[in-house]
Amino acid sequence: MEKLIYFDNAATTFPKPEEVYRKVDHILRNVGGNPGRSGHRMALSANRVVLDARDSVARLFNIEDSSRVVFTSNTTEALNIGIKGFLKPGDHAVTSSMEHSAVTRPLKVLERINVRHTKVKCSPEGVLEPEDIKRAIRPDTKLIVITHASNVTGTINPVREIGEIAREKGIKLLVDAAQTGGMLPIDVEKDNIDMLACAGHKGLFGLQGTGFLYIAPDIQLEPIKEGGTGGNPEMDVMPNNLPERLEAGTMNTPGIGGLGEGVEFILREGVEKIRRHEVALTDRLIKGLLDIKQVIVYGPKDANKQMAVVSFNLKGKDPSDVSFVLDSSFGIMARVGLHCAPDAHRTIGTFPQGTVRLSSGYFNTAEEVDFVVSAVKRISSL
Ligand code: PLP
Repeated sequence: MEKLIYFDNAATTFPKPEEVYRKVDHILRNVGGNPGRSGHRMALSANRVVLDARDSVARLFNIEDSSRVVFTSNTTEALNIGIKGFLKPGDHAVTSSMEHSAVTRPLKVLERINVRHTKVKCSPEGVLEPEDIKRAIRPDTKLIVITHASNVTGTINPVREIGEIAREKGIKLLVDAAQTGGMLPIDVEKDNIDMLACAGHKGLFGLQGTGFLYIAPDIQLEPIKEGGTGGNPEMDVMPNNLPERLEAGTMNTPGIGGLGEGVEFILREGVEKIRRHEVALTDRLIKGLLDIKQVIVYGPKDANKQMAVVSFNLKGKDPSDVSFVLDSSFGIMARVGLHCAPDAHRTIGTFPQGTVRLSSGYFNTAEEVDFVVSAVKRISSL
């Protein structure tokens, strides 16, 4: 079989650690029952799977009370719960011009119930100035929603500083960690994070269909879906206690178990080691691409200021054609277009054609980076 080179880890990581495959297989074969529902032995072990995964997530992000970790089907659901469950008519939110649609669309739809927001403009490299956030805050501002790192340029935002501004002003901070969870150290206490939305299927090495939202103890969110929770069946509304309040319906037990195992893998390896590897690959990739005359690289172009996400274009070539040839002629999996973040492309000047995005991961190698660079070089001369 042709060897495929996967450089689309910003969409979802591939492959997963062996332990994750084994764990999911084990759960599917041995753990029946519905967590938090039946009292039989298999349901209790399903419950254990979910509880253990909650504890693992809490440990990785320094969350004191793991019951404040709510499992979701992806980052999008986590962000929807955080945004729609928190903001009320008359409230104002501050966000940036580099956000994913998972932030911009929920904020847009809330305009219908008189929730307003301001988009702070970032630089063409995707850099957000905390002072600009400060200036956008109004007396009715209740929430700052910011991506920890852009999924288009990889640019890392100064979340801790923004959190300090939020604390000073008595505003809550919701961080979209889809591109950083498991790949950059995050400590919800030190980083002043009130809500943290994260994918399970990206840097945490879990399965697609998983994610979570952390909610600080002083925040009570309105659920965006209602249904069975196992406990409190006599109530005709959702219970107040977490995580049940925000976890209606049967959980994705195998997916959550896999996610917990992915987090355990990260805890064993160490986020710093993972980050070091990704910085080394990104540095090599950026330098290699910049050596090709026709290449335009977007974003900071500095591996220490960005995640392993590198967007580029070839002068005079359609990014869709470049991506097609990367796959069809070289077996390289890249993502092309607007990456569900049209505002980010408007900010960096690549709307509407978009860019080719190469995103390496922990299991990629320097040799693969060199192969990708040589493939781009060949395409540039076609
Ligand atoms: N936010 C950012 C910055 C992302 O990169 C993504 C996905 O790529 C999302 C949100 C949505 O994540 P999910 O696909 O887990 O819903």
